[in-house]
Amino acid sequence: MKIGFIGTGVMGHGIITNLIKAGHQLTVYNRTKSKADSLVKLGARWADTPALATKNNDVVFSMVGFPADVEEVYFGDDGIFAAATAGQMIVDMTTSTPSLAIKIGGAADKHGILALDAPVSGGDVGAKNATLTVMVGGNQSAFNQLTPVFNQLGQRVQYFGSYGAGQHTKMANQIMIAGTMTGLTEMLLYAQKTNLDLPAVLATLNSGGAANWSMANYVPRILKNDYTPGFFAKHFLKDLRIALDEADKMGLDLPATRQAKELYEKLVDERGLGDDGTQALVKLWWEN
Ligand code: NAP
Repeated sequence: MKIGFIGTGVMGHGIITNLIKAGHQLTVYNRTKSKADSLVKLGARWADTPALATKNNDVVFSMVGFPADVEEVYFGDDGIFAAATAGQMIVDMTTSTPSLAIKIGGAADKHGILALDAPVSGGDVGAKNATLTVMVGGNQSAFNQLTPVFNQLGQRVQYFGSYGAGQHTKMANQIMIAGTMTGLTEMLLYAQKTNLDLPAVLATLNSGGAANWSMANYVPRILKNDYTPGFFAKHFLKDLRIALDEADKMGLDLPATRQAKELYEKLVDERGLGDDGTQALVKLWWEN
């Protein structure tokens, strides 16, 4: 397939690499051009704008940071909608708001463009190893056409319904992750206070009923003092804010998720550590 891809960050880089390896023809665009250099060396073509990354491709994917970035990439002067034509497919994989997915879907419908919201879970490791979970909402025909491509990126691909349904599923995922991140942090504080052997605690808990992806992937990084972002803390705070905002609109109170958001606000807004990975939550207690 001829694929345009906008956003060559932590996630985009791994996904694009796998798409090239699968034999697709890639055109890439990123705000900071140098972050696409290694992909161009792998065979991707560079485009100077999102519109040029869209032109003449069967599908264009976006995997940028925040909802405001998605707005710019789709609706900006040189954005995707400036170039997309009837029958083309557009897929936003950014974790963004359900309402923006609905807005993109509505604009796509007007021009016969086929839109999907398809956020993912599985982290930097999942993007690199093609083991992502893909949560899809939007145009069913686009989903059917792109299922083989999604299967080249992930292990589990699921369609949930109309525009925004993928983003709502991702919010359910992030509400779950709020619990695993606060859980692994408090587990470490407790285990350290009791002078337990932390690697042995990790290995043991990973084999029992408390096993979970966040603990398995992030605790080893914490024990090596590695706070580089697999998943930026600033992006997780964005997600918790979206999830709580959506819950609020439905009259749903989620006190544990709210508490997690307040902890990440301390980390990101007060301590300025948004460019660390989400595992840096433990820094609110451990300085080193
Ligand atoms: P990232 O490394 O910051 O990548 C985002 C990329 O998008 C950056 O290279 C950025 O450019 C580019 N970008 C942002 N705004 C742009 C714009 N207006 N035009 C063009 N390019 C733009 O973040 P990431 O970890 O890949 O995450 C991307 C999205 O996936 C986020 O919404 C995140 O919440 C979600 N997500 C992340 C993970 C994870 O574990 N990392 C897992 C699932 C979902 P610059 O290079 O100029 O900054």
